Amino acid sequence: MRRTYHSDRLKVAGKRYEADKRGNTMARGIKLFKVLGIQISIDYTWFIVFVLFAWSLSAGYFPFRNPGYTPGTYFVMGIISALLLFACVLIHEIFHSYTSNRLGLEIKEITLFIFGGVAELTKEPDDAASEFKIAVAGPVASAILALLFGLASAVVSAEAYPILNAILAYLALINVVLLIFNMIPGFPLDGGRILRAAWWARTGDLDRATKVASMIGKGFALFLILTGFLQIFTGNFTGGLWSVLIGVFVQQAADSGYKQVVIKRALEGVKVKDLMSRGVVTVDENANLSEVVNNYFFRYHFISFPVTSNSHVSGLLTLNKVRGIDRHEWEKMRVKDVMKELSPEDTLSPEDDAMDALARMTAEQNSGRFPVLDKGVLVGIISRRDIIKLLEFKTGLQR
Ligand SMILES: [Zn+2]
Repeated sequence: MRRTYHSDRLKVAGKRYEADKRGNTMARGIKLFKVLGIQISIDYTWFIVFVLFAWSLSAGYFPFRNPGYTPGTYFVMGIISALLLFACVLIHEIFHSYTSNRLGLEIKEITLFIFGGVAELTKEPDDAASEFKIAVAGPVASAILALLFGLASAVVSAEAYPILNAILAYLALINVVLLIFNMIPGFPLDGGRILRAAWWARTGDLDRATKVASMIGKGFALFLILTGFLQIFTGNFTGGLWSVLIGVFVQQAADSGYKQVVIKRALEGVKVKDLMSRGVVTVDENANLSEVVNNYFFRYHFISFPVTSNSHVSGLLTLNKVRGIDRHEWEKMRVKDVMKELSPEDTLSPEDDAMDALARMTAEQNSGRFPVLDKGVLVGIISRRDIIKLLEFKTGLQR
């Protein structure tokens, strides 16, 4: 099953950390097709934006720029232009992903989201040059597209083919807009990544470079939000609303992008075996539930226990499962009747990266504790708290 990274918040002791969440894409979006080995998917939020774009083009932009046609014509123009716009966004993302794959940073999936596309980067680039190449590839694609559509609209006569000419001119314009938007020098937008790469190359300090680029991103976001409100108060409601929305988007992206980098850096090179607890308390699959509640849950206060059968691990018993069963049944019920069978998804290996483990835990909010198996043998157990403790320690040291 293909897994992808999604951004997710995880709240710890009043602090919010952003962690990559490895969830199943099918749960949130639709898989479309593959290009150059990269799976293209669309998030459900994309449909909202698509309708908004198609509507604002057919009811606003085209009737204003090219008056004199029927609403039906504008409707078709709006749909076609919105589809082509998203094709352009996709090409921009494919340029990033293709470059990234060429440099050995695997990108398997691109998801089209509310504000364009997100190519799922699983790792931070190892050096400033790679970062720069990956970041610059997308704006290069947008510039090429703007140029091509601009040329096409110059070639196609506005008198003979006015509708086609209008669509081509719009696509040239929107690719320039995409180019400018993405070149905003705030991390994690492309411009911010380029800035980060330049700072990183000059100083050799990735953490500082990330911090500076994110701060510029936040500053720019604030500027957009303020000018947006100013526009709204001076009568330009639609333009102002767009500024505010984009500002909020950039602000959130800068914030979560920065935190993700901090987490990735703190967990770099840390393996599950470095953080797991050894000497795991297990329960026997033939024990009855009231024994387990009294001798294990009350005694150790863990929220789940690995279940053993003839000294190998067969499942996981969670407090939630036990809670769901009537108290009077506890004497009769055995652990194996209520335990969750272990699938490879529920276990980790000692050699797994702590970052991947955290991502898995955030995606599967059920157990909170993952048994660690080495060739089928239980060697330890790891919880989200084990990883968070290290994160807090390391980020505390940096402050
Ligand atoms: Zn980009």
